[in-house]
Amino acid sequence: MTLRIGIIHNNEQKSLDVFQRLVPLIEKKAGIKLVERDPELVITIGGDGTLLSAFHRYNHKLSDVLFLGVHTGHLGFYTDWRDYELEELTDSLCRNRGKSVSYPLLDVVVNFSDGRSKHFLALNESTIRKGSRTMVADVYIKEERLERFRGDGLSVSTPTGSTAYNKSVGGAVLHPSISALQLAEIASLNNRVFRTLGSPAIIGNQEWIEVKLRSQGNHMITVDQLDVSGPEISSVKYKIAEERIHFASYRHMHFWHRVKDAFIRED
Ligand code: NAP
Repeated sequence: MTLRIGIIHNNEQKSLDVFQRLVPLIEKKAGIKLVERDPELVITIGGDGTLLSAFHRYNHKLSDVLFLGVHTGHLGFYTDWRDYELEELTDSLCRNRGKSVSYPLLDVVVNFSDGRSKHFLALNESTIRKGSRTMVADVYIKEERLERFRGDGLSVSTPTGSTAYNKSVGGAVLHPSISALQLAEIASLNNRVFRTLGSPAIIGNQEWIEVKLRSQGNHMITVDQLDVSGPEISSVKYKIAEERIHFASYRHMHFWHRVKDAFIRED
């Protein structure tokens, strides 16, 4: 049986050009039919953001889908292939099936004050923030109350999301083989009266984080690119998800090479 491949691209001209070049290579050279429904392999063309969108489209069937990213800008964290490597990519699709690498995801349960709740999976992170006023929340790790947080908000990220928003708020870069979550503060209030940990914390895979909101009014929750809507939020619970994301792995990419390429790039 032939591999069922779906392609998702962003609407930038460069991505559209790559799409036009990749389709005949896959269909004619590799003899693989592209499908819209139930793909086994999803190829994204664009950036890490495009891969995030594809993840959210297929996150209900993660055990059946492999992802593969072609980057049309710089090398990404979810995108192994460059736009000038399409022939090599097609050869790999023909030759080499079944190899994959998987990474942890974040399980998010948002509880609303009317008793309802919503469940999400995040590939990068989830944040809780409050608009103009200080967010006040009790932060629990397992049953232990760690602190009463005051500040702009909190971010909880996956290892692969550690290089995204988490890094911008001072979090550490985590190797994706580490099955852990990272809690990072967004502009915490620390003075003689109020005190928080004041540094990012790495939470092990047997632990969970619960944030019980104490401030009144609207809080904003994000899950990757999504804004969560609903009535007033009372608490949010984070743990490592049972599901993982699986990437087709036709060649090894050194994680710290990606980090260097994205953030330092001195040679
Ligand atoms: P966007 O605002 O259009 O792009 C945000 C940037 O984050 C893009 O350059 C994207 O790379 C990059 N990115 C996404 N995932 C990454 C990862 N795991 N490691 C390193 N960089 C990553 O938003 P978007 O494309 O829809 O992506 C949503 C994500 O953007 C969120 O999950 C959040 O992590 C991130 N974000 C970061 C900030 C910040 O750092 N202050 C603010 C808002 C959102 P590409 O160019 O390859 O797509």
